[in-house]
Amino acid sequence: MRILIIEDEKRVAGFMRRSLLETGYAVDCAYDGQEGLEFAQTTPYDAIILDLMLPKRDGLSLLKTLRQRGVATPVLAVTAKGTVHDRVTGLNSGCDDYLVKPFAVVELVARVRSLLRRGMAQTAALQVDDLILNTTTHTVTRAGKAVTLTAKEFALLEYLMRNAGQVLTKTMIEQHVWNYDFDSGTNLVEVHMSHLRNKVNRGLHPALIETVRGVGYVLREPPGEGP
Ligand code: CA
Repeated sequence: MRILIIEDEKRVAGFMRRSLLETGYAVDCAYDGQEGLEFAQTTPYDAIILDLMLPKRDGLSLLKTLRQRGVATPVLAVTAKGTVHDRVTGLNSGCDDYLVKPFAVVELVARVRSLLRRGMAQTAALQVDDLILNTTTHTVTRAGKAVTLTAKEFALLEYLMRNAGQVLTKTMIEQHVWNYDFDSGTNLVEVHMSHLRNKVNRGLHPALIETVRGVGYVLREPPGEGP
């Protein structure tokens, strides 16, 4: 899950970014309305957190432009207390939810989770063979036994499961699970994937996560058990 924060107050943006990173999301920050619009149009985000009072282009105008251009990414608007409240809560603003400043970290994370669920309009549980991942409870089981994952491993597995049967390249994984400031010269993807593979496969048959040498990774649906 990759999230864009558009917020000109760097301290607030930094605090939101940290709490979402800790939850396991990839996060980019844009610091004015123009930059935010460019980011939102060029990268397929899973959710956008949008401060409404922004330099260069205000949040509601940004949102209107995005919607006119067909970008349907769910948006959580952030407003200062008492400002533009009525317009945001109105039916035509184009935002999916709003949060009034100041807010607690837990509230922000809860709203983003709920936004992501709505955006995907899918069930919370993903299943491939005997592997089950629950995006609401953030738990994973294989053959009925709990698999303990780090936040990054969980994000990787969710991405693999949503694209089961499809080979995902290292670049696709980097773009979806990491941020813009990610240094693609590192072997971080390999390291995290290797840990994840060991935890999920655990010597069980079939080995669900496979490395496709020179190409990337795939979570295989076992043959003959498809829908
Ligand atoms: Ca602001």
